[in-house]
Order: sequence, then C-alpha cells, then structure tokens
Amino acid sequence: MTTSEIRRQIDARLEDLHRRHRELPPDREVRCYTPGRGYHAPDGEEIRHFGLALASLEGDNHGVGDAEVPFAMQSISKVFTYALALADHGREHVLSRVGVEPSGDSFRSIVFDERARRPYNPMVNAGALVTVDLVEGDDLATKRARILELMQVAAGEPLEVDEDVFQQEIRTDDRNRAIVYLLRSEGMIDGDPEEVLALYLQQCSVTVTCRTLATMAATLANGGVNPVTGDAAFPRRYARDVLTVMYTCGMYDFAGQWAFEVGVPAKSGISGGLLVPIPGKLGIGVYSPGLDEHGNSIRGVDVCREISVRLGLHVFATEEEDALLGLRSPAAHLD
Ligand code: GLN
Repeated sequence: MTTSEIRRQIDARLEDLHRRHRELPPDREVRCYTPGRGYHAPDGEEIRHFGLALASLEGDNHGVGDAEVPFAMQSISKVFTYALALADHGREHVLSRVGVEPSGDSFRSIVFDERARRPYNPMVNAGALVTVDLVEGDDLATKRARILELMQVAAGEPLEVDEDVFQQEIRTDDRNRAIVYLLRSEGMIDGDPEEVLALYLQQCSVTVTCRTLATMAATLANGGVNPVTGDAAFPRRYARDVLTVMYTCGMYDFAGQWAFEVGVPAKSGISGGLLVPIPGKLGIGVYSPGLDEHGNSIRGVDVCREISVRLGLHVFATEEEDALLGLRSPAAHLD
C-alpha cells in the first residue's frame, strides 16, 4: 500500500469512529464547564462539538469533525508543567515536593498526603499548584514563557494564553485560591500564593485544538521529541515519569477504571479535551465538552475505549487475548 492509500484508510476509519460516537449516549447525565460560570447543564452549541485527531510518530496528523475548534487546555496543561519541573530539578527533588500516588479523590479535593507532607500527585490541583511553584524563573512572565515554550515545542506550533478565559478563571476560582493558601500554610509552596495561582490558571488557559493535542501526545509517546520537528520538549529520561503519572492519575478519580479498560496513559481537562499518548506508537487528541461525573469527556472516554480495543493498545493486552476476542495484534492499523 502506498503512503497516500494508508493515509486515506486512516482518515476513513477516523470518519467512521467519529460518526458512530457523534451522538452522546442518551442514558448519560452530561455536564459542561464554562470559565467563570463553573459546571452547568448543557445549554449551548458547544455540546455538539466533537473533534478527533491522530498523530503518528512519522509526523502525520489526521483530524475529523471539530478538529480545528480551539479550546483551553485546562488540566491537560499539568502534564507539561510536570515535565518542566522534572527538567528543572530532577526526579528526586520533584518527588520530595509532590508525590506519585493516585488520590482516588476528585481533582479539586483539598487533601494532602499527610504522612509524606506533599500533595498526592501532580495531576490533582494541589499537586499541580506545587508543580507550578517549582518552575524556575525570576518572575511570573519568565515562568509563564518557559511553560509556553515547552508546550510549543511539544506542539510544533505557537500557542497562546486565552486572556479572557484566564480573567474569568482568576476572578472566580475561590477553590484553587483556598488550596494554594493552605499549601503555603503547610509550607508546601515557596512562592507568593497569588502568583502561583495566576501561573496555574494561565497554563490552564492555553488554547489548543484536538489536532494540536494529538501532536503533543505523539511527542510524549516519542520520548519528548516532537516527531514533526525533531525538537526535544524536555529530556528523554523524564518521559517515563510523565507517562507513569498520566497512567495512574491522569483521569481524575476514574484513573483506575480507565487503566483497567483502556490501558494507556491519558490526561483530560474540564473543557472536554483528552490527550492520549500511546508510547512508541501514536498520539490521540479528542475534544468533546460533554463531561461525566468525574469531569472527563464522555465521547472522549468512549471513543478511546474503542480505539484501544480495536488496536489492541492496552499495555497488558496479550496476543492470545486479542485472538480470543477476534482482535488484531497491536501492530495492526485501524481496522
Ligand atoms: N482550571 C481548572 C481547575 O483548576 C482545571 C481543572 C480541570 O481541567 N480538571 O479547576
């Protein structure tokens, strides 16, 4: 098969997946999140948005549906700041400040690992705030530029903070403000709480599309090296750490079930984005703002579950099991 035939086949499979997952399951309770307003029942057009993109490690990017619709990364940003903190300080120091233990609680929980005196992991808000505090830089602008730079290398394109989203968030985010002050009272952050909160909410407000997310996922799947540009977003040795916490903690208090059913690293955000690196294979990006009770994109979870089963992507899947289920080996293309 020629390269363009393979591309056409992948596009056709993606179209098919998109068509079959376009309708939200009627039995599910759906919520949406709007900056400044919080969670609410769906009442706008955005609930219809559904984009799906796949980026190969050879540098191809395929998108279907609303693959070009921009949205704020929200929690997905936590992955990249964690990589930056590791690059700045090394594994041991970062681990002394923020753990790698799934909390089993909501991402907004005000809980810490009391015994180890640190937040449970970098994917819950408390841990992400400590991670932001770890970013090197003389001032807020420098730290923000460094986070953006790492994200841009991963994406292979310029990215920006959506100032409107940021302003709405910082105006209303009492909960994270409470967490960051509590972190200071416990001696878990060094910086000014308002600055740490601002930087955290700025990284949450970086605009992407699901096509961008697919490339960023491919970068993570490729040891931190953007497969299109060949540029390293962060040192290769930290890719393993980032992927591990995504695997165990990336889907909030649904992380265990996700690992069980889908079996790949992932990170979701409350704007409906999903970043899914399949190590050594590919990157998936999804955008669909209808959220479940955990804050994960309903279509995002469903479509990734199907992709994982069809491609045999679960890390612990065996060839025998796939054969029993009538599935193809992990090497197979979308079928
Ligand atoms: N800005 C949001 C918050 O901190 C991001 C959380 C998320 O996407 N889960 O509450």
